[in-house]
Amino acid sequence: MTQMTVPLLDLKPQYRQIREEIRRVTEEVYESQQFILGPRVGALEAEIAAYCQAGQAVGVSSGTDALLLALMALDVGPGDLVLTTPYSFFATAGTIVRLGAQPVFADIDPLTYNLDPGAAAAALEALGSASRRRVKAMVPVHLYGQVAPMEALEALAADWRLAVVEDAAQAIGAEDPRGRRAGSIGTAGCFSFFPSKNLGGFGDGGMVTCNDAELAEKMRILRMHGSHPKYHHALVGGNFRLDALQAAIVSVKLRYLDQWTAGRQDNAATYRRLFTEAGLAERIGLPAEGTGRHIYNQFVIRVPGRRDALRDHLVRCGVGCEIYYPIPLHLQPCFADLGYEQGDFPESERAATETLALPIFPELRDDQQQYVVDRIRAFFDA
Ligand SMILES: *Cc1c(COP(=O)(O)O)cnc(C)c1O
Repeated sequence: MTQMTVPLLDLKPQYRQIREEIRRVTEEVYESQQFILGPRVGALEAEIAAYCQAGQAVGVSSGTDALLLALMALDVGPGDLVLTTPYSFFATAGTIVRLGAQPVFADIDPLTYNLDPGAAAAALEALGSASRRRVKAMVPVHLYGQVAPMEALEALAADWRLAVVEDAAQAIGAEDPRGRRAGSIGTAGCFSFFPSKNLGGFGDGGMVTCNDAELAEKMRILRMHGSHPKYHHALVGGNFRLDALQAAIVSVKLRYLDQWTAGRQDNAATYRRLFTEAGLAERIGLPAEGTGRHIYNQFVIRVPGRRDALRDHLVRCGVGCEIYYPIPLHLQPCFADLGYEQGDFPESERAATETLALPIFPELRDDQQQYVVDRIRAFFDA
C-alpha cells in the first residue's frame, strides 16, 4: 500500500474555507485600533452565551484563565478542597493548586473517561471530618467532547453544597442526554479557544459561561485586576482579558461550528463502520457514545498492552496520533505533596497506558480514514 500522510489535525482546509471573512473582520479590527475587550468581545460573549444556552458569558485570555477566574469568583482559595478527575489536561488541577486549594481526585469511568459519580461520592466520603467541611467545589471535565454524567454529579454537588465548574474546554456544543449544553449545567462553564479545540482562535482565548448575572459581573471585574470603578480595587484579580482580534475570528468560526461538528460526527461514524468491517471493533476499544451530543474533540481508541507499539507503527506509516494523557494528574511530580500513589486510580492509570487519539478533524477524507484503519489492521495482522 502506498504511503499517505494523515495529520492528527490540519487547520489549513478550514482556513481556506473562511479566509475572506477572516481577512475582512481582522482588517476591521486593525482599522478600529481597538484591541482589548470592546464591542467585538461583547458580541462574541452574547453569541457564545446563546450557543451554549447560558445566560451570561465572559471572554477571557485562555481556557486555563477561564478555570482560574471561575474558581476565583467562587472564592476558592487556600485551605479549600476541590473534587476533580486525575485524567485531564493539566490546567484542570493546576488552576486549583495555583489558588492555594487542593484537588481531591476521583477515578474515571473506563468507557467514557469522564469522572465516575460513584468514585466521586466515595472520594468525598473517605475524607476526615475536618476535610469534609473544606470541600468547596467540583470540576467535572467533559473529556474528548462528551458531557460528564452531570445529573449524578449535580446530585452529589447538591448533597455536599458544592459549586460546579464545568471544564468544557473540549466540549463546546456537546449536550447531555437531556439536551443540556456544556457550560449551561453547572455554576460556571469554562471554554478554550486554543487553536486545536473545536472552536479555536488564532492564538489563545477562552470564555466562562454562567447563569448568574452577579457572578458574571464579579468575573468581569476580576478579569481586570478587580478594578471597579477604575483604579478602585475591592478585589485582587488579574489580567484575564480577551483580545478583540481573537473575538472577531472566533465569531466568524462560530457560524461554521455546527457544520464542522457534523463533519467530526460523520468521521466518527465512518471509523466505527470501518473498524467493524475490518474485524477490529473488539480488539480496540471504540469510544463509548452515550445518548447525548458528542462533538468528538478527540476520537480515542483503547489498545491494551500494545498502545505504544501501535503509535510507533502509525507514526512510521505517516498517521498522526497522540496520547491524551500519558501521566495522570495524581502522579505528576508537582503534585507529589498531595500524597497520592500509583494504584490510587486504576482506571485513570490504565487509560494513560492504553489510549490513543486518531485524526478526526472535520475535513478528514474517507480515503484517509480507510488508510488509518488499514494500517491498524496491518499492525494487528503482523
Ligand atoms: C485545552 C484545555 C484546557 C486549557 O485551555 P487553554 O486555552 O489551553 O488554556 C483546560 N482543560 C481542558 C480539559 C483542556 O482540554
